[in-house]
Amino acid sequence: MTTLATAGAVLRIDLGALVENYAIVGRQVAPARVAAVVKADAYGIGAARAVGALADAGCRTFFVAVLDEAAALMPLLPPEAELFVLNGLQPGAEAECAAIGAIPVLNSLDQIDRWSSLARARGQWLRGALQVDTGMSRMGMSPQEVALLLGEPDRLRGVKPAMLMSHFACADEPDHPFNGEQAACFSRIASGFPGLPRALDNSGGAFLAQDHLDIVRAGIALYGGAPHGGVNPMRAVVSLEARIAQLRTVPAGTGIGYGLTHRARRETRIATIPVGYADGLPRTLGNRGSAFVAGIRVPMVGRVSMDSITLDVTDVPERHLRPGAPVEILGPNQTIDDLARDAGTISYEILTQLSRRYARDYVPAAGLAQRSVAR
Ligand SMILES: *Cc1c(COP(=O)(O)O)cnc(C)c1O
Repeated sequence: MTTLATAGAVLRIDLGALVENYAIVGRQVAPARVAAVVKADAYGIGAARAVGALADAGCRTFFVAVLDEAAALMPLLPPEAELFVLNGLQPGAEAECAAIGAIPVLNSLDQIDRWSSLARARGQWLRGALQVDTGMSRMGMSPQEVALLLGEPDRLRGVKPAMLMSHFACADEPDHPFNGEQAACFSRIASGFPGLPRALDNSGGAFLAQDHLDIVRAGIALYGGAPHGGVNPMRAVVSLEARIAQLRTVPAGTGIGYGLTHRARRETRIATIPVGYADGLPRTLGNRGSAFVAGIRVPMVGRVSMDSITLDVTDVPERHLRPGAPVEILGPNQTIDDLARDAGTISYEILTQLSRRYARDYVPAAGLAQRSVAR
């Protein structure tokens, strides 16, 4: 088994920064409270660790996307915490959802009807969040469905609504006029459900200059991603240090990597780094992305392979170059948003694709358990 010392790449996850980001969003949206979105293994950083740190910091409301994620996390939560399933109830999944104790986000009248019939069949109350679509056309009841529901409140029999929610389409663009339209639409619908806690914001929404209502569902901001296009107020949570596997010097004109898509323009020092697209480095970084050695930017030359990339390190002083020497992929010089931009994607995709192959080094939040290593 490789250790942190011998691994080809180490993914460091700063749970203190995660907790700090939770506090930053909390101050930003107060008096609304912050729910943590921990779907997709907490955006790749490890949901069990993330949930533990956030629960220790006082978070009591969590969201996952699918039922299996809820089943895995439920036993780790404080007993009074609530866990919502964003994708709602697939047909036939009602009994399992109830058994897990997760709260489905009811996205359609069909889902409400199935949750209500389970509740009535069992003669017990079942909690459910009600999601309405305010213009994204993805999940949630249409305005027509909401009108039907308000006209036939009996359809909710046995269901105890836990919150009313919707989702922004353009919250990462603070000046987008659709944000205000969605907020107004949501507020009109919410007036039909007096007293029900309202949740509209995601990370981007938390930084919009409008009312944050009762609950904010924060995902990417907790994990250090920029919630909008401006200066990122969040602390980095992940850093990725790879180690040089091999070094060579090639004469001008030499082809590099699959397809020989790069040709050395001069005598070139090439460092091969043992991380590739199977580790979550998008293949679109080939001949476009960068890494840093001793703080010096080094371009990725040639294609990204499954298990390796090649860097042009000609401009790096030789004393920094040896097998095992550190190469920053994510860190002080390159954020997840920087890497995403070079790859033509978003920070969310960079995080959620981070490989299980990396050695992981979890740095605990102050007051938490000993630093520990997991793979
Ligand atoms: C993923 C998700 C969130 C979190 O979004 P971020 O932009 O990561 O903060 C919130 N609400 C819903 C419905 C989601 O699907």
